[in-house]
Amino acid sequence: MSSADNTLLLRLAGPMQAWGTSSRFQLRRTDLYPSKSGVLGLLLCAMGKPREDSAQALAPLMRLRMGVRVDRGGTSGWDYHTAGARIGIRKAEGGIKKTASTGEYETLISKREYLYDASFLVALLGAADTISDCASKMEDPVWPIYLGRKCCIPAEPVFVATGLFETLTEALSSVSWCPRISAIDWRDRRATRILDTFIEHSPGSPPPAGARLVFDEPRAFGYNSQGPRWVIAGQVTVPVGDPIQALPYRPDRHDPYGCGWDALRRLRLEHDNDLCVFCKSPAVDVHHVDYGDARVETLRSMCKLCHDACTMLEYGDDMHQLRVDPSDPNQRMAILRQIEHLLAGRRLGRRRELLEAGRSDGANFLDEMPTSWAREGR
Ligand SMILES: [Zn+2]
Repeated sequence: MSSADNTLLLRLAGPMQAWGTSSRFQLRRTDLYPSKSGVLGLLLCAMGKPREDSAQALAPLMRLRMGVRVDRGGTSGWDYHTAGARIGIRKAEGGIKKTASTGEYETLISKREYLYDASFLVALLGAADTISDCASKMEDPVWPIYLGRKCCIPAEPVFVATGLFETLTEALSSVSWCPRISAIDWRDRRATRILDTFIEHSPGSPPPAGARLVFDEPRAFGYNSQGPRWVIAGQVTVPVGDPIQALPYRPDRHDPYGCGWDALRRLRLEHDNDLCVFCKSPAVDVHHVDYGDARVETLRSMCKLCHDACTMLEYGDDMHQLRVDPSDPNQRMAILRQIEHLLAGRRLGRRRELLEAGRSDGANFLDEMPTSWAREGR
């Protein structure tokens, strides 16, 4: 951190966030990105300034200009909130509201909107001494930091860095974009991302066309004390951060072999003239003889029935390492008996007969397999 730094960068990410600028009474909304009043409130928390004593500390903070970058917009949803459970709610005609059944103080229930799973980069640009003061408090906050409401706990360290920048756009472009590890799209190898920004217009010049007037400039913390400011929507292009670039390619469920499963499957079907290798019916499936090594040579085109039989034989081995190869003559009898059993089970009324007879229908013809065949390793 340099003493000349004029910008503070903060990461606001968490399972829940709430940035209300139009919230009154029982219906509390959230904006889709952090409000200035919310972010300055967060800084006052870090400084340990109570609401009633915030005016003096707030004055230099109000001169900071704020920009927001939307790294992950999240989704919005409603939850309910209770208030006044032990304090009680005053009735208009006097006295405290009590529940009819138990006579206890009544609880006020309000509806509150939240942003779920969002992540924002916030830049505050202004006087160097204010920035260095804020940065030191953010690194060692007096009170816990929360994202708009006390129940909204940050999921990552909030303090990111300080820096020296000409503009908020430049500051917001200085940090690379990183997805959560669990949300990485492994097929998307783009090196940059275009992200939405909301940047505060500098007072003193007329706002450009398209600027939006928001009332979230806190004058003092309390009710109805927000002033107006202009916010300009834009976009920045930022590099994708190291975590995604550095991690090795990880196959996903839809392309398990990283080389195009559909293409490989198609090749094997062509190799077998679209016929089942076991019974020469039209093939619809491709069976793995070896799950660890999928190549044209280790796949077999199969019809549904023969494939089901092979799979059942494998399952009959309690998911051990056993793999059935329908083109191995030694395995032919076992597969045939399993097909026969499958067909018998499918005959109309057969299931009912088996159930009524109380038979455990777990017949499996593994025992007919040649003993030399892949039984070790159990
Ligand atoms: Zn077949």
